[in-house]
Amino acid sequence: MKSKEFIWQNLLEKVKTENQSLSLWLEGSDAVYNEADNKLNIFVKSNLHVKTLNKYKNELEDIFENTFNFKPSINIETAKESKKDISEKITIEVKQMPLPLFSSGNIPSLNANFRFNNFIIGTGNRFAHGACMSVAEAPGQSYNPLFIYGGVGLGKTHLLHAIGTYVHEKDPSKKIMVVTAEKFLYEAVQGMRDNKMEEFRDRYRSADLLLVDDIQYLQKGEKTREEFFHTFNELTNLNRQIVITSDVAPSQLEIEDRLTSRFSAGMIVDIQPPDFETRVAILYQKCKEENIKVPDNVIAFIAEHINSNIRELNGTLVTFKQLSEGKPEEMTIELAKKAIKIRNPKFEQEKKIGVDFIQTVVSDFYNIKVQEMLSKKRHENIAMARQVAMYLTRELTNYSLMQIGQYFGGKDHTTVMHAISKVDNLIKSDEKFKTEINEIINRIKK
Ligand code: ADP
Ligand code: MG
Repeated sequence: MKSKEFIWQNLLEKVKTENQSLSLWLEGSDAVYNEADNKLNIFVKSNLHVKTLNKYKNELEDIFENTFNFKPSINIETAKESKKDISEKITIEVKQMPLPLFSSGNIPSLNANFRFNNFIIGTGNRFAHGACMSVAEAPGQSYNPLFIYGGVGLGKTHLLHAIGTYVHEKDPSKKIMVVTAEKFLYEAVQGMRDNKMEEFRDRYRSADLLLVDDIQYLQKGEKTREEFFHTFNELTNLNRQIVITSDVAPSQLEIEDRLTSRFSAGMIVDIQPPDFETRVAILYQKCKEENIKVPDNVIAFIAEHINSNIRELNGTLVTFKQLSEGKPEEMTIELAKKAIKIRNPKFEQEKKIGVDFIQTVVSDFYNIKVQEMLSKKRHENIAMARQVAMYLTRELTNYSLMQIGQYFGGKDHTTVMHAISKVDNLIKSDEKFKTEINEIINRIKK
């Protein structure tokens, strides 16, 4: 039996391909397997996690059994340092996640939820997406190997599987192998131990398309790298397509030069974190998948504060959905803050004047509801309040026009620009109005 950490990582990988939402709840958790009583103790972030995961226990045990051929009893508890939890009283609705399309078919580890058509293209991933598309269109004929690298949660695995799904659907006879480098390592070690290397080699070397996720794990195993090197050479000689993902560029990998130079022989693309606009688009897409309608200002708030990891961005939306129980009247920025905080107890909002605060103060001043300001109502005083709030946001903060538009009901930047210049002109021509604006500014700055 391998070390506990190794097993756990394998299991997490497996969960990730079988059930994405379950995998989100396991993020950042740790586990200890106790052989004596066949118990797997999982330590998670919060009571909310315990509560949710307990409902998935059977599924987890099954995945464990399928991965390791034996079944422990699973116990879930919070990790010691995060005992206090703000979400104790929240009940979570667990819905059955759709299983991947090919879960038990000929390509067991391909996650059919990761597709090109649900991948949002934006800054940071446009180039990588294009390269993946051309590889999927003509495997072995464009870039080979294709090497994709970038930070955690930016869509590398999504693109990798999208290639596989695309190729599979176009030509089901193509032999596709999807594997994490860690699993490759694990299987190679087992193959060596059980004298089954021939079998292992044959399996990988018969692939038309080999998709290797998280190649950085190969840094751990020298013998396995040797094995991979030969598989790699054999496949590329036969013009079979190889796609590799990594959390760092090939040159940063601590492996032999002959391997890095092989990796660099085709095309190398990186994925950078998405900008605000792309994050907003990803959130709307997730809303569609989750079948909920979340107000634009809440989308703006989540997109503003979760900016470097798309998995976390989507996960926050799911937590928000659960907290709100799908009720529109609960879907506020306050609740979004709570969702972020549950997932990341260290989250502190930057001390600055936020758009939501300006909206509140201006709404109060004009005696309207914040909801009205965010609505599409064109009533004169509501429209005026809305324009003043946009103007003040521009004056008092450094939000971009695009961000301001999003906070005010998903308006585009020209609408914001128009509002700002209108208020600007009024201030210049109307002394009374100018005094009003100054009064509001004083209230905001108080
Ligand atoms: P990585 O492998 O780079 O750590 P993943 O591919 O697992 O990241 O992506 C994390 C999550 O974010 C997945 O649920 C994935 O579907 C989603 N995701 C990443 N990029 C995009 C995108 N451009 N559009 C839609 N969803 C995305
Ligand atoms: Mg990944």
